[in-house]
Amino acid sequence: MTHDTPLITTIALGLVGAFVLGLLAKRLNLPPIVGYLAAGILIGPYTPGFVGDQEIATELSELGVILLMFGVGLHFNYRDLIAVARIAVPGAIGQMVAATALGFGMGQLLGWTPAASILFGLALSVASTVVLLRALEERQLLDTKSGHVAVGWLIVEDIAIVLALVMVPVLATGVAGSTVEGASAGGGGAVALSLLWTIVRVGIFVALMFIVGRRVIPWLLGKVAATGSRELFTLGVLGIGLGVAVGAAALFDISFALGAFFAGMILKESELSQRAAEDSLPLRDAFAVLFFVSVGMLVDPSVVVKHPLAVIATVLIVVVGKAVAAFVIVKALRKSTTMALIVAASLAQIGEFSFILVSLGRNLEILPQLGADLILSGAILSILLNPVIFALAHRRQKYRERVLEASGKDARIAERIGDDFPHQYSGEGHVIVVGYGRVGRLVAEELWSRYIPTVIIDDDEERVLEIRGEGHEAILGNALRGAALRKGGIEEAAYVVVAIPNGLEAGEIVTKIKERGPNAKVIVRTHHEDEIAYLEARGANRVVMGEREIATVMVHDIIDSEPLPHH
Ligand code: AMP
Repeated sequence: MTHDTPLITTIALGLVGAFVLGLLAKRLNLPPIVGYLAAGILIGPYTPGFVGDQEIATELSELGVILLMFGVGLHFNYRDLIAVARIAVPGAIGQMVAATALGFGMGQLLGWTPAASILFGLALSVASTVVLLRALEERQLLDTKSGHVAVGWLIVEDIAIVLALVMVPVLATGVAGSTVEGASAGGGGAVALSLLWTIVRVGIFVALMFIVGRRVIPWLLGKVAATGSRELFTLGVLGIGLGVAVGAAALFDISFALGAFFAGMILKESELSQRAAEDSLPLRDAFAVLFFVSVGMLVDPSVVVKHPLAVIATVLIVVVGKAVAAFVIVKALRKSTTMALIVAASLAQIGEFSFILVSLGRNLEILPQLGADLILSGAILSILLNPVIFALAHRRQKYRERVLEASGKDARIAERIGDDFPHQYSGEGHVIVVGYGRVGRLVAEELWSRYIPTVIIDDDEERVLEIRGEGHEAILGNALRGAALRKGGIEEAAYVVVAIPNGLEAGEIVTKIKERGPNAKVIVRTHHEDEIAYLEARGANRVVMGEREIATVMVHDIIDSEPLPHH
């Protein structure tokens, strides 16, 4: 070839390799991620054959992180974030301290300097955004309370890392200049100052986003949507996401991920957020895959053979140490075991933030090569083990549910989800509406206005309090649990309307309903053609497909209009 095109080659090879090996992994009943990582190792510098451009791959994966975090922001509003802060802030800090301490201990055992040991511990303490989001999304957990806590937790970690990045160079000079007493005292002042400055910068950015961004960005997108050009709209969405991320990094020195998250969260306020999320989806998926390829490219697989014990210890810290720490903290904050398991599983891995710390540590010559290799192999192994951890957590949860159900302790779980008022609906022939969201709210309001006795089940505390405030009946709890259905008087109910957006979850709820209240007619909402049969098989008496009903009404509007439009 006469000209060099490393960007195109790296993208193409990354995508093709990931596609082929991902497909192969799927064939072998392995998660596709295994294939993506293997593709990365193959085109990486440590295996023979073609070597992709590592720097470009890393940068491309950053794009994946930006788009993913932007997408998460589009799911989140700041109220959600504030709602989970009580768990996420102490949780993330506690877990980071625990993991850093474990890593520090290991570094000391290996005879590294204190600075190297701290850096090693820090790198093990932060989870990867990409891995966490994909795991939650795949299991449809992103929109659950546990999902929100996990994401909030990650954002706290992200902010902590921004602060840590300020501290690392100081660590380096602290070690070099430790002989000079006066200098280190002066250094302490400088550290405090630069930390403070970083906090102020993050604060200014957040304030700017909330005060200016919140007005300007949705307005801008609204204007773009009004032009009617789909292309411009998509461009607008991507421009805002990437623009804010890169602008925030350049002007305020905060991470791309954090900037993108805030851009998304601001857009969430706009009615167009759903469309924006859909528009950025395909690009997001492609770049998230490149993220895994780039991780594979960084890893020297031979370290596993050369230092097997150290690799095992590193993986244990990440997978077991961090999971246990998260589990204990969530339980100590008196949250449900389900939440503790989900949060623990989703954070028991490391990724991009650790790589940033590695490269900084190498550049400043604090971290020995072995430390870097251990972190990288720890990342790849913990990413590979992540689905296994989730499966274990799931098994544990199922087992626990069975035990609790058998011993009649179901009510206690419901209490722990936060229902302080032991409500029990006492009427009969009533309607139970599960989920008081976009659809459930309309159903309930209509029923109430016709004086049809109706009780709501929702697992969102705020919504339940709102309904009760208006003088209606509502049960706080997850309809997947027998207790919530029982409190809603399932045995005597005439109808149950399952109005939640997640079809798979709705199917589980239908099964539970049919077990407990075989007489109730069950009406379920869905958005997918292929879920209809699934829901009917579970016993739903009527499945209403949202999109089809919309179409029907639209057609009727035309048919019923006078005069009829003619050819
Ligand atoms: P929307 O997404 O606007 O249709 O709202 C769905 C509503 O259903 C929200 O208020 C959720 O809190 C609620 N919800 C979702 N899943 C469950 C569940 N398993 N049990 C009870 N409420 C749920």
